[in-house]
Amino acid sequence: MRRLILVLGDQLDARSAALDGFDPARDAIQMTEAAEEATYLAQHKKRLVLFFAAMRHFAEGQRAEGRTVLYRRVDDPGAPGTLADSLRRAVADHAPEEILCVEPGDWRVRAALDAAAPIRWLEDRHFLSTPAEWLAMGAGRKRFILEDFYREMRRRTGWLLDEAGQPLGGAWNFDKENRKSFGPDGPGFTPGRPDAPDDAITREVVRMVEARFPDAPGSAVGFAEPVTRAQALAHLADFVAHRLCGFGDHQDAIAMGEPTLWHSRLSAALNLKLISPREVCEAALAAYAEGRAPLNAVEGFVRQILGWREFARGVYVGLGPSYLDRNELGATAEPPRFLWTAETDMACIRDAVGQLQREAYAHHIQRLMVLGLFLMLWGANPRRAHDWHMALFVDAIDWVSAPNVIGMSQHADGGVMGTKPYCASGAYIDRMSDCCRSCRYDPKQATGPKACPFTTLYWDFLDRRAARFRGNMRMKMQLANLDRKSPEDRAAIRRAADALRERIG
Ligand code: SF4
Repeated sequence: MRRLILVLGDQLDARSAALDGFDPARDAIQMTEAAEEATYLAQHKKRLVLFFAAMRHFAEGQRAEGRTVLYRRVDDPGAPGTLADSLRRAVADHAPEEILCVEPGDWRVRAALDAAAPIRWLEDRHFLSTPAEWLAMGAGRKRFILEDFYREMRRRTGWLLDEAGQPLGGAWNFDKENRKSFGPDGPGFTPGRPDAPDDAITREVVRMVEARFPDAPGSAVGFAEPVTRAQALAHLADFVAHRLCGFGDHQDAIAMGEPTLWHSRLSAALNLKLISPREVCEAALAAYAEGRAPLNAVEGFVRQILGWREFARGVYVGLGPSYLDRNELGATAEPPRFLWTAETDMACIRDAVGQLQREAYAHHIQRLMVLGLFLMLWGANPRRAHDWHMALFVDAIDWVSAPNVIGMSQHADGGVMGTKPYCASGAYIDRMSDCCRSCRYDPKQATGPKACPFTTLYWDFLDRRAARFRGNMRMKMQLANLDRKSPEDRAAIRRAADALRERIG
């Protein structure tokens, strides 16, 4: 064997650098469904189905191209339990001259494979930027935040710029237009998303996961993620045709029982590399050019991909494995059990976690301003919060989950992903959702029997962290509101927060 090419479960890109110059006579692809990857953390059943079904489809596609694929199923008798074991066995069986793999999106996997055999690591060309470029952009700057990176990427791509290089519509972003809630009548008609893939491979994987991983969270039934490139492209076309037009206005709104609303739900397909960020953005840009979607929607969507997603990868790779251990706020609590079970009387969390159990998905504002917010106010250890996110969300890969959870939602990286913590009281959730109307708590109250846990913990968070955030101009207004509270009120809030931790901890 000349080359053994490792293709990991989130590297399902037929145009990957690892497949350049593939010689069917002398090269082989190896793919492994390692039990360790399915169990090192509890993993939602739909997440397991996504990876296994997409991997099996990819292997079929490569075989159809006449390529040898050494595919190890998790349910094969004597299957290797880990990626490293599988690699060692392949080396012993085939003695390849060279082993190739695209850089993994998980430091843990990289270390395990490095320890098993010498590998030539290749740049992941899926992305629109490289970690080296991210580091170079930030080098020597006093401040390097998402907005700086995003504008630079807009200039590089030329996307949504006029002939003078200025942003279309006269602004780099339209956040002010993109914060509408749905109002008392709710979202009304929403288009939904395409049906579940119905093919023999996916059906077999659903049955296998249900039988082999009975204790994994959630259910595999009702699995609806795209698992092939063709399905992912169909989902992209469906989003651009039916939901992109409404994405901007309501991107920060929540409606109970409505997981999709105007969101693309393309993150799982993107993160498995079934589709590329370039083609996703170009589809949205074409819709704008043809008058099928407004600028605020298209810019908001492009920013998620070209800005946040690329910036997150720069953070993860650029700052190295120690990023995973950042804990700037010294948070130590365990994430509360109800974030797994939905057994809580907080309507917003019950709705989001219930949806997570069913779909292994929550849209970005549920993640950031309900679930992530609660974890931060609760004082959850950021690494444990990241583990929870990795376990339950279908689209979570280490490189994207760590910056978004440890950095953005938990503010544990000290301001790399966001210059201030995303902290808010129940009033924010009340403004942006219909959750509080059916909740036993009152989002305006911080103390007393109807006190909203978010509101209690929000004021307690500010009170305890005030000294730390005094120098942050973006926290000025929130701290000024805290300062207006009397010492008696602040003491009562502390007592209420302590009692709350005692009660639901
Ligand atoms: Fe959530 Fe508080 Fe609103 Fe209840 S009152 S839904 S706990 S924000």
